[in-house]
Parts: sequence; C-alpha cells; structure tokens
Amino acid sequence: MVENLSEIAAEYDLNSLRGSWVEVNLGTLRNNFYAIKRSLKPGTKVLSVVKADAYGHGAVRCAKTLDACGTDYFGVSNVIEGIELRKAGLKKPILMLSQPPADAIDALLEYEIMPAVFESEFAILYGEKADARGVRAPFHLKINTGMNRIGVSWNEAAEFARMISFHRALDLEGTFTHFATADEVDTLDFERQANRFNTAINEMRAVGVNPGIVHCSNSAATLKYPGVHFDMCRPGIILYGLKPSPSTIPQIDLQPVMSVKAKITDVRSVPIGDGVSYGLHYRSRGYAKICTISVGYADGLHRALSGKIDFLLRGQRYHQVGSICMDQCMFEVPQKRLQVSATEDPVPGEIVTLIGQDGDACVTLDEMAEAGNTINYELACDLGAMRLHRKYV
Ligand SMILES: *Cc1c(COP(=O)(O)O)cnc(C)c1O
Repeated sequence: MVENLSEIAAEYDLNSLRGSWVEVNLGTLRNNFYAIKRSLKPGTKVLSVVKADAYGHGAVRCAKTLDACGTDYFGVSNVIEGIELRKAGLKKPILMLSQPPADAIDALLEYEIMPAVFESEFAILYGEKADARGVRAPFHLKINTGMNRIGVSWNEAAEFARMISFHRALDLEGTFTHFATADEVDTLDFERQANRFNTAINEMRAVGVNPGIVHCSNSAATLKYPGVHFDMCRPGIILYGLKPSPSTIPQIDLQPVMSVKAKITDVRSVPIGDGVSYGLHYRSRGYAKICTISVGYADGLHRALSGKIDFLLRGQRYHQVGSICMDQCMFEVPQKRLQVSATEDPVPGEIVTLIGQDGDACVTLDEMAEAGNTINYELACDLGAMRLHRKYV
C-alpha cells in the first residue's frame, strides 16, 4: 500500500482515479452476520474474524458494521491489526488468534488486545508486565488438538493452565482450538480433534481450572457441527458470504460481500492470427474485439489465471485472453458478423464485472479460485487488499 495514500485521498476520490475497484456491500455483510447468528443456539457468542483486513474487505469498516450488529468479539492475526481496530474506536474484546513476540506485550496491554497463549515464558512475562502497570492480563489458552500449527498439546493443557494460574495478574478468559478438516467431507480427523478438545476441557475442570469461554468452531464447524459450538463460534469466511470449501453447502442464506469491477480502457479489432499480450500466446481465432481493463496480477488477479477466467459485460460472459500483465489484462468479445450489432460493440468506459453479478450472469470467487487452483480465501485477500481501492456500498 502506498504510504501517503490518505493525502491523495484527501484530494481525490481514489476509486475514480484508477477505473478499477473492489465493491464491498456492508448491508450484505450485516445480513450474513444475522443469518449466522440466527442459526446458533441462543446465548452462543460470536467472534467475528476480521484478520488480513477482513479477508480483503477492509477491517475497520467491516468491524464497525459487525459491532453494530452485535458481535461479541473480534479476531485478528497480529497486534497491528488489533491496534488498527482500537484506533478506529472499537471497544469490544479483541482476541489475537496466535501468540505475539514478547516484544509486543506492551502494545497488547496498552491497547487491550488479548493474546492467545501457549508458552509459559510468554504467559509469565505478560503477567509481570501487567502487574507492573497495575492492570489485568487477560488471555485465551490455545490448545493444539491435531492441526499441529500452534498451541499447547491437548494432553498437557490442564497441567499448563494449572501451572500458570498462580500468576496473580493472569486471567484465563477463554480456551480454544482450531480444526484442520472441518470443511472436508471425511469426518474422522475432525472427530478426533473434537474429542481431544473435549478431553482437555474436562481435564482442566478436573484440576480446578475454569477454561472460561470455550470455542473451536471456524466457519465450516459453525455451519456443520452445532455439537462443537460450545460458548462461542469464530466465523470468518462465511461473514463475507463465501463457502469454506466447495463441499461445504451452507444451509443458511449467505451472499458474497465483495465484487470486483473495472472500466474498459481500450477496445481494438484484432484480425485472425494476431496475438495478444506478452508472448502473444493467445492468437485471435477470427475477427474479434479485444478489450483492456486496468487490473493485473499486482492487484491480485493471479497470472496463473491467464486464459482460464471469464468477465461479465452487459450481462454476458466473455473469456479473458492472453497473459495477465502486472497492471492490465484483456478479454475478447467475438464479433459474429462483419456488421456487428450494438450489443457486441463494447466501448471504452463501460463497466466490466470480474467478480459479482451482472444481470443474470455471475462470476464467483469460488469459480475463479477453482480455475486458479487455489481457494476463495486467498483471492479475496489478494483482490481486496493488494492495490485495488475499496468502494463501500
Ligand atoms: C482464520 C481463523 C478462523 C476463521 O476461519 P474461517 O475458515 O474463515 O471461518 C477461526 N479461528 C482461527 C484460529 C483462525 O485462524
């Protein structure tokens, strides 16, 4: 991101400077939140995951919207993301979903961001620093039940919690784990993790430790496994109206929050045999109009998607052709007759939909992710947060 963007923004409308943008529909975000909330047992809390700039949708605007909807908690991935929310005036509890470097403890305390904790050295230092300031040191205990990324091993969790519970400033506000396969069809590994988590929670209680708010459900588990909702769910991707995986079919109404749009910058006729874009790997198969837009791989439209995706214009699908460049790419509008009708005659300035709905036609992030051999999460983060500017509608 350009450092002095706010100066430019004070002078101009950033969206109109470039002619390509991301649209974020906050009303849709709100509807998705309510649909999720309605599907939960009354009393179940919601931690809205707004890490990575809310999966590219803009953390501050999304968090403010979710705050007004009644989310109980926010989830971020690092201290900077937490500070950003605090500076924007958000007051609700913020859980950082991993344990930061010890150097971040002062900032955690200053901005009241709760860390996930899984190392005793960190816990003690956090407690001591809080004590020195005369404040509490709330945290959530992170348990590893099989994802094998971060966390105290599930069969050592009770002992760990008991051991650090003696520090007078430390408050165990919650205990959680994270599933590796909740979004997959096979349930065996999921069940093993859920059983281990249950065991760890029971063992904590057995040694006299109150685990606080117990939570483990990401979006997929929130949709599929009400039996593991415990006290709180942690939806991320479904807030933004996207599916956790192609095989996860939501039973609630979720609509995509993000659309990506661009204005045509150039239209030219390309005779048969002429190539398009770097390498000229694409050759025109006949009389066709090649249209250019100013979205490229530096905007998150991965180069690996070249020739594999469609864009929408006037409610029709057209193939993207040629290598996707850093800042631009092209698509082809076939000219069926020599004397083309107006509907087949695109003009510069017309709006193209890369992601979203246009008339009856629709291109989803799911579809684009499949074409690019990746997941909707990654494309949302890239398209939403790399270089395109966001227009909130
Ligand atoms: C990212 C994350 C989530 C949200 O995951 P989704 O699949 O987007 O719902 C929940 N919990 C933790 C610990 C995470 O890191």
